[in-house]
Amino acid sequence: MERQTVEMLIDMAAAARHNARVPLSGFHVGAALLTKNADVITGCNAEQGNMYESICAERCALTKAISLGYREFQAIAVVSDAEYPLAPCGLCRQALIDFGTELPVVMSNPKKDRVLIMTTGELMPAYDLASSELTKALETWFDGKADDE
Ligand SMILES: [Zn+2]
Repeated sequence: MERQTVEMLIDMAAAARHNARVPLSGFHVGAALLTKNADVITGCNAEQGNMYESICAERCALTKAISLGYREFQAIAVVSDAEYPLAPCGLCRQALIDFGTELPVVMSNPKKDRVLIMTTGELMPAYDLASSELTKALETWFDGKADDE
C-alpha cells in the first residue's frame, strides 16, 4: 500500500473520530475503510446506554459500508486520541476478517508518527485453523507425542 494512501486513511480516520459519541469512555476513535473501488467510508465509536449497546469505529465503518452495498475492501485505518496505535478489539477483528485474512489494518495516532500495519490474519492468527501454522504446530506436537509412547 502506498504511503500516500496510508496517510490519507489515517487523516480521514482521525477526522472521523471527532464525531464519536463517548459519554461512557470519553475515548474518541475513528476508522476509515478503503473500498475496492477506492471510496472511503468512515466510522466512529458510538456509545449509548451501556457498553454492550455501543459500537466501535471499525464496525461502524464496516456496517455503514455494507449498508451502502460495498463488499470488498483494500484496507482500514483506526485512529484514537492515544499516543500509541490502537489495535481493534476482538469483535472488530472477527468482523473484519470476514472480508479476508490479508486486509491491511493501519493503526496510528493522529500525528502519524507511530504507525503499525498488520493484516487481519496477523491480528487473528488462528482464525483459519485448517490451514494455519498453529494447526501445523499442533500436528507436529501430536506426532511427537506419539513417538514418545
Ligand atoms: Zn472494536
